[in-house]
Amino acid sequence: MNSNNYFKFINDSKLIISENSRDKLENTNCLSAIVESSLSQDEKERLKSLLSRSLENLDYNLTKFEKKYCSTGLKIYWAEDYKDIFKELRSLISFNKIKTAYYSSSYIYEEIGLADFLKKEKVKYTDNDAILQFVDVHKLISNTGNMLIMDKNYTKYKQVNSGKINIFIVGIEQIIESLSDADLYIKENVALSGKDYDSGFFYRPSRTGRDYLFIVDNGRTNLLSFEKQRLVLTCLHCGLCKKVCPVYELVGNKPFNNVFSGPIASVSLPFLENLKSYKHVSYACTLCGNCQKKCPIDIPIKDLILENRKYFRVTGNVDKSDNKRYSKYKNIVQSRDKMNKSRFFRKKRLKKFLSKSLRNSILLPKLEKKSFNVQYVKKRK
Ligand code: SF4
Repeated sequence: MNSNNYFKFINDSKLIISENSRDKLENTNCLSAIVESSLSQDEKERLKSLLSRSLENLDYNLTKFEKKYCSTGLKIYWAEDYKDIFKELRSLISFNKIKTAYYSSSYIYEEIGLADFLKKEKVKYTDNDAILQFVDVHKLISNTGNMLIMDKNYTKYKQVNSGKINIFIVGIEQIIESLSDADLYIKENVALSGKDYDSGFFYRPSRTGRDYLFIVDNGRTNLLSFEKQRLVLTCLHCGLCKKVCPVYELVGNKPFNNVFSGPIASVSLPFLENLKSYKHVSYACTLCGNCQKKCPIDIPIKDLILENRKYFRVTGNVDKSDNKRYSKYKNIVQSRDKMNKSRFFRKKRLKKFLSKSLRNSILLPKLEKKSFNVQYVKKRK
């Protein structure tokens, strides 16, 4: 795509671009857009619908992207998981005798364990003149074969055009259909990132042997097979849901033991990773709904957590001991006689209801001497 088309795109969209930026970009294949405001209700609805539409048409968009991207002789490295990426990177590192690499912080690098891999390969991190550089890709554009890269002060823009070896790693879900779809995405990302980004540009690699694009699955196909839960793949990774979650405020990342944490991970992790090790995170939620009220694209996180729990139950993925405990507890709370028993009895039952680990690690509530019912009846006499 030539620069005229890029500028036509800018004019057609609502992006704000300074004269200075325009001059700088006149003869390049990149576009930069300085965006200042966040979204109106109408724009938010548009962004939501374009993100879910992109997800619904994922197969089609990926195929179209591959066709465009590869039309200039470039290759896409499709990776089922981090092992496929590391296999290619290992041979690249050894072939080019690479000793230093640069990467910024990004959830995808943490997800695949990039820092540990480079350490193992004896490649040192440096932000000064590394031969190999990892560049974050925010979205792939299926119609044009471009990548959308979020930027600040043209840092990434200069980085990708510096002539070094560029590695791009992106999840299969990070794709949208057209350049004009990107304006709202850029605008919202700039607003949500605080001061991390002030612009976004489109990059289309053209150098075989210098630009490497990895598109990684890593459990996403499994998550996609769940009609409701797959909506979490439209997440912008803004982290707002974490900030308003009372459970996350108390427990932090620890119970998640993963790069993904917080309310959205309570939905996705059991399917991205595995049910056995991660289904507990869907229960670490009070269902207060703060997360879905705060989400800028209205992902119904609380409802999806409930959907997970329902799925675990109907597929028999619940602990038998939990089932037993809950049914005993139900018998007690439904029996007036038992609820009116002595404080000693009620405390004993409450302790029995809790699993062993919890019994010793949490403070039990102070129970009243007499139950509410006994107190109420006595007062009315
Ligand atoms: S608030 Fe919404 S978009 Fe932001 S991280 Fe949470 S789920 Fe994703």
